[in-house]
Amino acid sequence: MTPTKICQRCGRLIEWRKKWESCWDEVRFCSARCRRQKPSKMDQQLEQAILSLLATRPRGATICPSEALQTLTPEKQLHDHMEQARQAARRLVAQGQIEILLEGQTVDPSTAKGPIRLRKV
Ligand SMILES: [Zn+2]
Repeated sequence: MTPTKICQRCGRLIEWRKKWESCWDEVRFCSARCRRQKPSKMDQQLEQAILSLLATRPRGATICPSEALQTLTPEKQLHDHMEQARQAARRLVAQGQIEILLEGQTVDPSTAKGPIRLRKV
């Protein structure tokens, strides 16, 4: 089986590649783009917002990532930060805190596209 790990920025799966043969242990990001993006305060706030929002909901309830985003950013900027919110959600999946659902089914965060919902594990 090919070794894998999770990108520390976008939370997507990184699959082992030949070019990483000698430095696999140090690989932390899936791409140059993810490596360049420095973690911002908002990234942490988003993870927190997702967890605290879920904590206020009944067990098994789901939220949309944009609901967490709304607690941090004005309505008209929501769209600009949507991918950031999804990245935060993926990192939380990697931490085993939440799961991502699409049409009621748990899905792989690396490949999920469309209107995802988040649920506490
Ligand atoms: Zn990445």
